[in-house]
Amino acid sequence: MQVHVDQDRCCGSGMCVLTAGAVFDQRDADGIVVLLAEHPAKQDWDDVREAESSCPSQAITVEEDQAAG
Ligand code: SF4
Repeated sequence: MQVHVDQDRCCGSGMCVLTAGAVFDQRDADGIVVLLAEHPAKQDWDDVREAESSCPSQAITVEEDQAAG
């Protein structure tokens, strides 16, 4: 799994941090998303998918790695 964030789209809602705090953080200054793990651990994948679908700005994109299953 590979995760992308678009900081230009992010509105700083913090939903992703609440959902998958191991993978996403927010900048102190303005709350814009910071990606902590571009390739998150398998145990976090479900949380990352949930963060992608619950982000109000569609700022999170998840690429599933077909080869690794
Ligand atoms: S959920 Fe989306 S809009 Fe909210 S902080 Fe995370 S990336 Fe930004």
